This record gives sequence, structure tokens and C-alpha cells, in this order.
Amino acid sequence: MEFNSLKDEDKRYIKSIVSSERFSTGTSNLDLHARDMSSHPASRPEAVVWPADREEVSRILTYADRGLIPVTAWGAGSSLEGNPIPVRGGIVLDFSQMDRILEIRTDDFQADVEPGVIYKELNHKLRHTGLFFPPDPGADATIGGMIANNASGIRTVRYGSTKDHVLRLVAVLANGEIIETGNRASKTSSGFDLLHLFVGSEGMLGVVVEATIRLVGLPAEFASAVATFETMEDASKAVFDIIRSGLDPAALELMAPECIELINRRKDLGLPISPTLFMEFHGPTRNQLTDAVDIAEGLCREHGCQEFRPGLERAERDRLLEARYAMGEMIRQEHPDYPSIVIDVAVPISAYPEMIAFAREAARKAGTGPAYTFGHAGDGNIHLVINTGGKGRERWQRIEEANHSVVDKALALKGTATGEHGVGIGKTKFMEAEHGRSLEWMKKVKQLLDPNGILNPDKMFP
Ligand SMILES: Cc1cc2nc3c(=O)[nH]c(=O)nc-3n(C[C@H](O)[C@H](O)[C@H](O)COP(=O)(O)OP(=O)(O)OC[C@H]3O[C@@H](n4cnc5c(N)ncnc54)[C@H](O)[C@@H]3O)c2cc1C
Repeated sequence: MEFNSLKDEDKRYIKSIVSSERFSTGTSNLDLHARDMSSHPASRPEAVVWPADREEVSRILTYADRGLIPVTAWGAGSSLEGNPIPVRGGIVLDFSQMDRILEIRTDDFQADVEPGVIYKELNHKLRHTGLFFPPDPGADATIGGMIANNASGIRTVRYGSTKDHVLRLVAVLANGEIIETGNRASKTSSGFDLLHLFVGSEGMLGVVVEATIRLVGLPAEFASAVATFETMEDASKAVFDIIRSGLDPAALELMAPECIELINRRKDLGLPISPTLFMEFHGPTRNQLTDAVDIAEGLCREHGCQEFRPGLERAERDRLLEARYAMGEMIRQEHPDYPSIVIDVAVPISAYPEMIAFAREAARKAGTGPAYTFGHAGDGNIHLVINTGGKGRERWQRIEEANHSVVDKALALKGTATGEHGVGIGKTKFMEAEHGRSLEWMKKVKQLLDPNGILNPDKMFP
């Protein structure tokens, strides 16, 4: 696609739509919107705009579409695959000023929000209502960015990912048209599911300007436990059995010994340095949860669990969860000098032990810097972070090869190249292998909704 760069008259026109305080071509603002949290190269936009409402978004898109100017939506920039990097320049629409919680309907377990709402702030606001919004990617992500990436997190094993919590969207299409899709009913059989076409579309089909999201009741009781194992294989087999047993954990996280060593050191947790499962169960009564934990312990023991610590108090549980959420950031801080690759694959649960073993072997073979394995095990999701451990193309090449082999393996096991981080720049090369002929239909959908290709160009498609 050929695009035009922003001319002075374009800048003047866009500034007239949003006012000059919400338009910037200043270097620091361009730099702040040139990279996400991945190691993908930075690329500056030509202007950053902070829209205040859907009409402004619509007018900007109408103008950009006619002028063939690229437009990339921006939430909090916490993506890990280069998803919001404006690789073709143009305009970045930063949604941080469209951050109003428009309405909370506790009786319907729903909220209407603008896209710039940070999900943690929504949950903070909800804390006295007995409700919460479960998808929890950990970073300070916006709901718009979570919808666009179909984000998930530690609670997804029980409560689902973002797609399971979006009931209605208002989106602005590339040509500036504003459409509303979905409704407030908890289910519907009405028409093609346009709503979910936008979920996971990484801002390439339209820009979300409002969403109705589904909330769920906070559990009356919870029970958490930590199980340590001799090998990763034992731990991952226990994951399979816990899921198969129908115990319905609300969290089932796997951490390799190197991750435990890191969180012990940084968060003073004093856990045994072994392959570890953190699990949590939610339910209406203590008794029910005691039974679930007992059964989980039995299953873990069958797989050589060395230590099983049930009954974590809330404070201890919170410290452990906080450390788990901070894992990615701790790894970054641990290796500030050299880049890392963050591999994020998911496989059917029966293949989880095989996938874990393969991924760790791939990291060992790469033989570059330190590698860390962890993940939302209950979803069959693995994160493998490999650091280059030094400078030079050759090291990067080696971790890229490891990335390739791990994704190829996940696909061979009928899994996916990305469990939750999205395609962005980093996963485009795997799209053909994963989707085959369907990829052509995805391209046709893109062509239909954004014929000039102005929305977040050069992403997703190889
Ligand atoms: C330490 C760390 C841990 C993480 N852990 C997880 C995890 O456990 N699970 C997980 O899923 N992710 C995780 N992530 C990745 C990231 O937080 C999520 O993908 C998150 O959803 C991105 O949200 P954001 O607001 O930062 O969006 P951005 O990164 O700003 O944008 C993401 C995508 O959404 C598009 N977009 C943004 N706003 C809109 C809008 N209004 N309309 C249309 N498109 C839009 C952008 O163009 C881009 O393609 C982690 C990231 C970090 C740094």
C-alpha cells in the first residue's frame, strides 16, 4: 500500500478537529508512541492525537481515509508483539483521554466503558459492588487494547478471555462510519457475529470507541495452594490431571525453577526452588473448596509432588500473585542490556507436557542468555522468554530459530502461534502456517472493511 505522509495542511485540519492541546508532533510524544513493550524496532508516528469522543475519531478517520494516511489506535502500549507500533508513520490515536466508565449496571452484571479505561481501575471502582471484570493481562492495559488483542490472564482458565466478556461494541470504521454491534442480552442468535470480528482484530478493522462488558460476581470464598515438583514434566502432567478432573481452578500457573529463584530474590518469597504450580479455586463455601484442594493435592502427589502447601492466607496469596503478574517486568529489569524474545504459544491441554519439554529444550539449544519458562498452564499456554545474553545478529538469529521451532511445534500439536499476545509484527510469519486458506478470507474481510488499508498497516498479514 502507498500512503501519504502528513502535510502541514493535514496537521492544521486535524488540529482543528481536536484542539491543539490534544494534537502533538513533539519529539517526546512521537517517541512515546514509537514502541510497545516488545523488542521490535521503534517506528515513530508523524502525529499523536488524543480524541475525546467518537465524533472526533470519525472525523479524523474520514479525513485520513480520503488522504491515504495510516492511523494506528493506541491503548497503553503494553503489547508484546509490536501490535500498536505505527510502522508506516501517520497518526496515532491515543485513547487515554477517552477513559470514562459510562455506566455500571450491577443488576445486569454489565458496564459500559470507553476504550481508554484501564481494567485495573475498573476493578477498583467495582470493588464494593461484589462484581469484577476477570480478564487480567497484568500490565496496565486499557479495555480497548484488551479487546483488540483478545487479552487474557491468570483467571482465564475459569472465567474466559476478553472475547467472552464483550457484549456490545461501538466501532468507527476506516471510512469514518460509526457502527454499533451486539446488545445487552447475555446471549443472542441474531445475525453474523460482527462483534467478535472486532475482538482480536488489533485495530485493523475498526477503532473501538465504546464497549459493553460482562462482569461476574466476586467469589464468596477462595482457596489457594502451591505445589512443588521434581521435574517440569511432573508439574505439567499434574496440570493435565487437574483440568481433566473437572475441578475448575480459577488459576493454574506453572513456574520453572529459574522463575522461582527470580521471584524469591526480588520479592522475598522463600519458595523452594523447583518446578512450581500455583493454583486457586473459587466457590460458594469453604467445604467445597477444601474438597477441591484435597483432590488437587492427591493428583499432584500422583505426579511426584514434593511439597503441597494448601491454605495460603490472603496476604500470602496476594504476594505470590503479585510476583507472578510482575514476572515479565522482573525479567526485563533483570536483563536491561540485551533484548529478549517473548514466545507465547498455546496447545491443547493433553499436549502441554510435550510442549513444555520441547520449549525448554529449544531454549537450551539456542544457548544464548538466560531463559525463563512460565505460563497460564490451565489454558495450555506457555511463555518462554529467551534473552540474547550479548550483542550481535548471530545471537538474535539463534533465539529467532528457537522461536520458530517452538511455534512450529505448537502448530504441529494443533495449537496456536499466540495464546494471548496477538500477532502484531512478530507473529505475521506464522499466519500462513496456522491459518492456511482461511488467511485469504481474513484478508478479504480486511479489504472489505478497510479498502485503503489505513488501519494499523503492515500487521498480521505476512
Ligand atoms: C509485563 C507484561 C505482562 C503481560 N501479560 C499479559 C498476559 O498475561 N495476557 C495477555 O493477554 N497479555 C499480556 N501482556 C500484553 C498486553 O498487556 C496486552 O496485550 C494488552 O491487552 C494490551 O493493551 P494496551 O492497552 O496496552 O494496548 P496497546 O498495546 O496500546 O494496543 C494493543 C492493540 O490494540 C489496538 N488498539 C488499542 N486501542 C484500540 C481501540 N480503542 N480500538 C481498536 N484497536 C485498539 C492497537 O492498535 C494494538 O494493535 C503483558 C504485557 C506486559 C508488558
